[in-house]
Amino acid sequence: MSDTIFTTQPATAQTAPVIAAAPKPQTNQKTLQASKKKDVNGTVYLLHFSQKYHHAGHYLGFAENLENRIEEHRDGRGARLTQVIKNADIEFECVRTWDKKTRSFERQLKNRHDARSLCPTCRAERSEEKRVWKINHKNEGEN
Ligand SMILES: [Zn+2]
Repeated sequence: MSDTIFTTQPATAQTAPVIAAAPKPQTNQKTLQASKKKDVNGTVYLLHFSQKYHHAGHYLGFAENLENRIEEHRDGRGARLTQVIKNADIEFECVRTWDKKTRSFERQLKNRHDARSLCPTCRAERSEEKRVWKINHKNEGEN
């Protein structure tokens, strides 16, 4: 995992204001998204919740300034989902980042609808489950 967010990029990453916090447009989403600064580079990030909120265990987002964005999430003003997470006293951590990506990359990942497979924390848990399962089933005469 890389945490070198600002490597050799031009100064934009440091000085750009966080416009990403604006509420999502409800209407004409397609046209708006298409015309809206589609190829701005930023960081796509994955938040893993300490427990599930209804069906949500993760939040996938895009930020031009990741640190600011995470702070907003922690304050409960980043996105609707992270607001309710905070209100429900659920912790989260940023488990993965993809640097120098665009919003369309974020959308690609979202369209997979399988954040768990992208999440190193969940994958570790899953392989641990498998390992335990194998151990438990070893003595049953079958594998
Ligand atoms: Zn996870």
